[in-house]
Amino acid sequence: MRDEALAAIAAAADLDALREAKVAHTGDRSPLALANREIGALPPHAKADAGKRVGGARGQVNQALKVRQEELEAERDARVLVEEAVDVTLPYDRRPAGARHPLTTLGERIADVFVAMGYEVAEGPEVEAEWFNFDALNIAPDHPARTMQDTFFVEGPADGVESGIAPRAESGVVLRTHTSPVQIRSLLEREPPLYVICPGRVYRTDELDATHTPVFSQVELLAVDEGLTMADLKGTLDHMVRALFGEGLRTRLRPSYFPFTEPSAEMDMVCFACHGESVGNPDRPCRTCGSEGWIELGGCGMVNPRVLTACGVDPDKYSGFAFGFGIERLLMFRHNIEDMRDMVEGDVRFTLPFGMEI
Ligand SMILES: [Zn+2]
Repeated sequence: MRDEALAAIAAAADLDALREAKVAHTGDRSPLALANREIGALPPHAKADAGKRVGGARGQVNQALKVRQEELEAERDARVLVEEAVDVTLPYDRRPAGARHPLTTLGERIADVFVAMGYEVAEGPEVEAEWFNFDALNIAPDHPARTMQDTFFVEGPADGVESGIAPRAESGVVLRTHTSPVQIRSLLEREPPLYVICPGRVYRTDELDATHTPVFSQVELLAVDEGLTMADLKGTLDHMVRALFGEGLRTRLRPSYFPFTEPSAEMDMVCFACHGESVGNPDRPCRTCGSEGWIELGGCGMVNPRVLTACGVDPDKYSGFAFGFGIERLLMFRHNIEDMRDMVEGDVRFTLPFGMEI
């Protein structure tokens, strides 16, 4: 038994093998341990001799284990020193390059498309008067979006004033839920004709998960001029889609409802990945559009005359169109990003591959 144990210890090539040999030859169920236990059952005259021999064997095995353990640890330490050596004389980039966030880059790219058509970029505060965020946009006081469940309120309306009937100065204060209040500010500040694009951060009381985030980015555009029609809106959207996704892509409008536009529409674009060829074609499924052929891009419509009136613009003389969409969603389907949390965690390993927009 001793010789077998010593041979196994000598043969152990690494610390794991040695651990196994240790369990097999010195553990509770090893032959030497069993032999040791049996000494008690021997006749008294045999006990001393057996005890000496078993004890001696166990001592030798333990000593051999200790020696081999030290040898193998020394070998491992020497190997780690070589394998994990750091050459401190190599040139070192003390400030590794960061990366622009793809939301920033894509937002600027979209703004560029419109600036090239003569639009101005307009910005507004993220902490916004309730009047700008809701009332001026024809969103009624009982509209569900105005409840605490959907909107972050910074301050309620002034004492004794009911939300929704408050004039501007007395309305509550919210984190803006869309970039539409910038349209109102633009209409109040400038005289038509007016062509603005409003990119910015907006807030809703959603929990952060793979498809929701309480803070996200929107882009809205607003055009107010004499004689603008839905055809102008459609042509503008077609141009935007071609500029962002390439030639040959169509858009379509589906009837919808928003308080601040009338008529209103949801706008879809032909899937840029499959060009609609995945529809009814199980051999060529498309992940980007879910084999629907169309991708929903955002909401749009002709500016509701009540919004123009609230901003002091004559709806008999001027008409306008507006369009808005979320940049996160656009980024997700444009680049097959599956989890929104990647966009907010700020990990440079996520942002680096986007490097730049070409
Ligand atoms: Zn598709």
